[in-house]
Amino acid sequence: MERSLKKIIKETKLRDLKWKVKDCHLPGEFDLNIRTDPIEKIHYINIPQIKRSPIRDSDYLHELCHAYLAEKVHHMFATKRFRPGWTQEQLDTLRPATYAVEWWVDYRMFQLAPEIFKKEVLEHYNAFFESSLVNQNEISATDFIMAAFTIAQAIYYCGTENPTEGRLATAVDAYLSYDPANPNLNDLTELTNRLASIYTLYRVRLMPHEEFGECWEIIKIE
Ligand SMILES: [Zn+2]
Repeated sequence: MERSLKKIIKETKLRDLKWKVKDCHLPGEFDLNIRTDPIEKIHYINIPQIKRSPIRDSDYLHELCHAYLAEKVHHMFATKRFRPGWTQEQLDTLRPATYAVEWWVDYRMFQLAPEIFKKEVLEHYNAFFESSLVNQNEISATDFIMAAFTIAQAIYYCGTENPTEGRLATAVDAYLSYDPANPNLNDLTELTNRLASIYTLYRVRLMPHEEFGECWEIIKIE
């Protein structure tokens, strides 16, 4: 029997993370998410104040997996930082491609709670094929990238068939080209750009950052 998620959360905070974890409520933020400050060495986890849907343990642990990679590999695995000069339109367009990071974050989830994780992957996979999204050509970039991610995870962790073709297959192949057990900033940047290339001309490029070491600059290819 796998350890309970509550126990894994407690152990992760005590043993795996060296930096402080502060649960907080960021004004205007309605999603569970993490902001890591690598200079202060603090992980701020935003807990949305919605009583109807309490935070699931697996979702909270997922945020701690971002924190783990932020400490062990690079802070951009928890919080993406962009060089000043970006526009909201550029950022909104690129956001689905930046979900590339979840490929490595979820591998940490798999290491911590493999059976619970694989069960959730299969549930998401089956839900996608039962949803109306599967027959729509014009789905949003977010739904499209999430679908590719779900299918790539099911293939990688559960050995399901790859039923995709066309641009969905291109996105699934992009995920599967990277080793989720080997998180690094170059692969994160590359996969983000491979996903972006399927639906936009915007790309990210690694740049030195005075305070944080590295950040991304948004560029548009010709
Ligand atoms: Zn995440």
